[in-house]
Amino acid sequence: MGKILVLFSGGTLSMAPNTDGVLAPSDNAETILKTVPGLREAADCDFELVCNIDSSNMQPEIWADLAQRIARAYDRYDGFVIAHGTDTMAYTASALSFALGNLGKPVVLTGSQKPLISLATDGINNLINAVRVAQMDLGEVCIVFGTRILQGNRSTKESDTKLNAFRSPIAFPIGEIEIDAYLRGQYTPRHEKKLTLQAAFENRIVVFQLFPGMEPDLIERVLVGNTCKGIVMLGFGPGNIPNGGRSLIGVIEQATAVGIPVLVTTQCSLRRGDMRQYLVGFDAVTAGAISALDMTDEAAITKFMWVLAQTQNPADVKRMMQTNYAGELTLS
Ligand code: ASP
Repeated sequence: MGKILVLFSGGTLSMAPNTDGVLAPSDNAETILKTVPGLREAADCDFELVCNIDSSNMQPEIWADLAQRIARAYDRYDGFVIAHGTDTMAYTASALSFALGNLGKPVVLTGSQKPLISLATDGINNLINAVRVAQMDLGEVCIVFGTRILQGNRSTKESDTKLNAFRSPIAFPIGEIEIDAYLRGQYTPRHEKKLTLQAAFENRIVVFQLFPGMEPDLIERVLVGNTCKGIVMLGFGPGNIPNGGRSLIGVIEQATAVGIPVLVTTQCSLRRGDMRQYLVGFDAVTAGAISALDMTDEAAITKFMWVLAQTQNPADVKRMMQTNYAGELTLS
């Protein structure tokens, strides 16, 4: 039986209806979690309460806390499970994949669509499967949810009702949960390299989802006052940006000129992020925009935060954003 550290951060898993009948974090979350039937038979588990929040309240300081706890306990455990709300699970999984360099053991995030106190909960299966996967030959951050084992920094939440709440749009699942759990895709097996920790994240960035008619003026306002450290634009198609009516190319030039990097991702979930395909993307790159290539939004945003905490140098930001650190992007 493997030794697993279960880090608890909250989420629906341990929630209960409050006096208004809406789901909220409950006071006895830790007890609920520790008494999940079958968990103690699945592995030799230790538990740590990191926080007890709805994951919509997740913060980069908690990502850092999670990463530090894993780093401190790294040699003492075979794997790590993080019980987490589903809403921002893909962000946390992505952030941890960057913070934990050379990761050679499984870090498995899981949660549930229905609370553990509900008869029809999916939480028991998810938790037990997460603990099983945390003992397997895997050296990366993954999400175990429903019947899927997914690479964390390629995942995104796709449903707030389905028991398979996550998918990894452009990466094959790294495994599946049937009667047993199987790893059968492309994944990093366990290894003995020394773990490195880089757990700082710059949160002073803004993310704009573009739409036809967006006013460049409104974006320009964030350039004033030296508080914004980076801009993310969710462009069209492969990362296209208006260069005609209400062009945003000038905003990219201005931001780049004052040292605020502009990262462009795409509104397509199945993505390649080739900004050199159309003039509307090419002009943005010429103006200084950095393509997020095929990273998910969650991976691109958390990586941008991670990179900006390490450097503000535009050339370094671009180089790092387009370097593959943890399987988060395809270099072609
Ligand atoms: N709002 C909840 C959370 O993310 C949803 C869930 O856990 O499924 O914490």
